[in-house]
Amino acid sequence: TLSSRLDTVFKSLRGRGRLSDADIDATAREIRIALLEADVALPVVRSFVAAIKERARGIAVSQALNPAQQVIKIVNEELIGILGGDTKTLRLAKTPPTVILLAGLQGTGKTTLAGKLGVWLKKQGHSPLLVAADLQRPNAVNQLQVVGSRAGVEVFAPEPGNGVGDPVAVARDAIAHARRHVFDVVVVDTAGRLGVDEEMMRQAADIRDAVSPDEILFVLDAMVGQDAVNTATAFLDGVGFSGVVLTKLDGDARGGAALSVAHITGRPIMFASTGEALADFDVFHPERMASRILGMGDVLTLIEQAEQAFDQEEAEQMARKMAASEFTLEDFLNQMLAVRRLGPIGNLLGMLPGMGQMKDQIAQIDDRDVDRVVAIIRSMTPGERHDPGILQKSRKERIARGSGVTVTEVNQLLDRFGEARKMMRQLAGGAGLPGMMGRGK
Ligand code: GDP
Ligand code: MG
Repeated sequence: TLSSRLDTVFKSLRGRGRLSDADIDATAREIRIALLEADVALPVVRSFVAAIKERARGIAVSQALNPAQQVIKIVNEELIGILGGDTKTLRLAKTPPTVILLAGLQGTGKTTLAGKLGVWLKKQGHSPLLVAADLQRPNAVNQLQVVGSRAGVEVFAPEPGNGVGDPVAVARDAIAHARRHVFDVVVVDTAGRLGVDEEMMRQAADIRDAVSPDEILFVLDAMVGQDAVNTATAFLDGVGFSGVVLTKLDGDARGGAALSVAHITGRPIMFASTGEALADFDVFHPERMASRILGMGDVLTLIEQAEQAFDQEEAEQMARKMAASEFTLEDFLNQMLAVRRLGPIGNLLGMLPGMGQMKDQIAQIDDRDVDRVVAIIRSMTPGERHDPGILQKSRKERIARGSGVTVTEVNQLLDRFGEARKMMRQLAGGAGLPGMMGRGK
């Protein structure tokens, strides 16, 4: 995944305050590979990476996040931006019926989508009508009728036995039917072909001209990968569309097609289909797709949590102290508390870039542990907290008694602190700070 790639890049990063051009180039390379692996089209990757590089140059040093996390955050924000930012909703006609035309290649899921939209629209309080304007395949009308009855939505279809029907006439009649019978949204299913095809485009454009749709939804199979851009551009030229519906997101496609098409056509992705059943459907959530493309939803959640948990001022102070090798027992305590604020530690450790070194230290901490540590440290004098080396046996006994622990436990804490301090000194001395601690200047 991208996070592990970046982790590797930043391992080489010393305790410097800013990303150098070389760091940024190395990072950009990894992002580029990750996006290509997710099947994002090359021109899109290029312009995207250029934008990331530009932003990475300008970033201020964050106390809460390490460089890898910062870059991932930028990448994520840019992805969400391209994928549409906020969720888009259907544009409804001022005078009903609202007309929605479905266009796309054969097998992408248009007919299935008609049923899903029907259910969804009903839930929104609409009264939808599905229109069978795919008269290309013998079975297409029947398929929509089956889908419609499953969805509990009326289907307008040409009278059987009228020879080869005219899809434009059917669509036009359907609008009139909707007006008469107070359907307020009409969803027109159209014929697709296996590949981009002049006649298919012309037919869809003719239907479009006959019914003046309020929305034309281009239906795209998320599994097609690199082909998505060509198909989308062809439909944009041939029919035009106002929004995109991604289907088959239940497959293992990483979703690069979504990014490519959103970037190249500038049209919002409005809905997502995630299975054959009518219920497998939702409005499109850009942030979910972004983390799918990056392949790192967990890391993104963690970044958010780390930013919240790690108080800026606290972090700055800590960084200063580390640089001066003044890491004290009190800092040790604060650090433990900051880590604890992140939630169940076991779940988190593996996810954090740069977290490897701290893993063992933190893995030993549990709630009761922290309580004991608090008690022990509070029983010490300020002088002892600053330099626990001055603690004699009798003082340790007093502290143990005062905090309700054994002398062994006091010694264990001091050992652990000694280890942590040694590590902090090493890190501050040029080995890069661990992810959890933010980065000092
Ligand atoms: P159309 O030719 O564009 O009308 O496509 P269909 O609606 O007939 O769908 C083609 C096939 O894809 C059917 O077998 C559907 O059940 C299936 N399908 C549609 N949407 C999805 C989806 O989101 N996930 C999966 N796994 N299958 C889907
Ligand atoms: Mg169909």
